[in-house]
Amino acid sequence: MPEGPEIKRVADELAEALVGKKLVDVFFAFDHLKPWESALCGRRVQRVRPRGKALLTEFGDRTIYSHNQLYGRWFVAERGAEPKTGRQLRLALHTRHHACLLYSASDIEVLDAGEMATHSFLSKLGPDVLDSDTTGAAIAARYAEPTFQGRQLGALLLDQGFLAGLGNYLRSEILFCARVHPLRRLGDVSSAARAALAQHTLALTQQSYDTQGVTNDLASYRAMRNAGRTFAESRHWVFARQGESCYECGETIEKISVNSRRLYFCPHCQTE
Ligand SMILES: [Zn+2]
Repeated sequence: MPEGPEIKRVADELAEALVGKKLVDVFFAFDHLKPWESALCGRRVQRVRPRGKALLTEFGDRTIYSHNQLYGRWFVAERGAEPKTGRQLRLALHTRHHACLLYSASDIEVLDAGEMATHSFLSKLGPDVLDSDTTGAAIAARYAEPTFQGRQLGALLLDQGFLAGLGNYLRSEILFCARVHPLRRLGDVSSAARAALAQHTLALTQQSYDTQGVTNDLASYRAMRNAGRTFAESRHWVFARQGESCYECGETIEKISVNSRRLYFCPHCQTE
């Protein structure tokens, strides 16, 4: 499943095609949403933004909520040049120049402000790490909240109710950069490690968004690419590198499972 940085890039692409533009044709595949085709046609999109792993397409008084889950996929095309795909089209927003097409997703709703506030998924989300309103201080405050102190960090970092937008590769990378063992409880780490967790949460997520998925040190990443290593081989500090040497200490990277998802760490560096 894509993580915050990947979802924000999709939102950017949709925003580029939609924001300020009048919709000239709207399609919903599901019968209960059909009345919204005529209701949204002629309306202008005000904003497209991610919230957790969902996307919100905002019209002012109404918002299209869509969550891709595992299979959903957005395509943005020139109008009339829609992709040939075997996927099921579930939502289409056409402007004069573009077609924004959502395939295979089944989790689509049209919500008003009251429904947004009480929505079963949206109302439980923590602050979005990549939202421009989310400051480093807000993330540090989240790490200081008493309710989260008993949680094991490897599990906590995947909890969208703690911080929204983090996912599996970011979890391993944040813990490595903060030098914290994935099985430690948040309440048991030092205040310096807590500050490092907050700082790397923001910095790594932002860097991954800016660089299309690179969480490794950028100078090291460029040197590795120049030496002929692939993107996949060069992009991360520890994620998907089990059995290879830690870039910091040379120890062998280990792979474990936390919350049924793979997690990678360096047993020598991550002793906090
Ligand atoms: Zn190491």
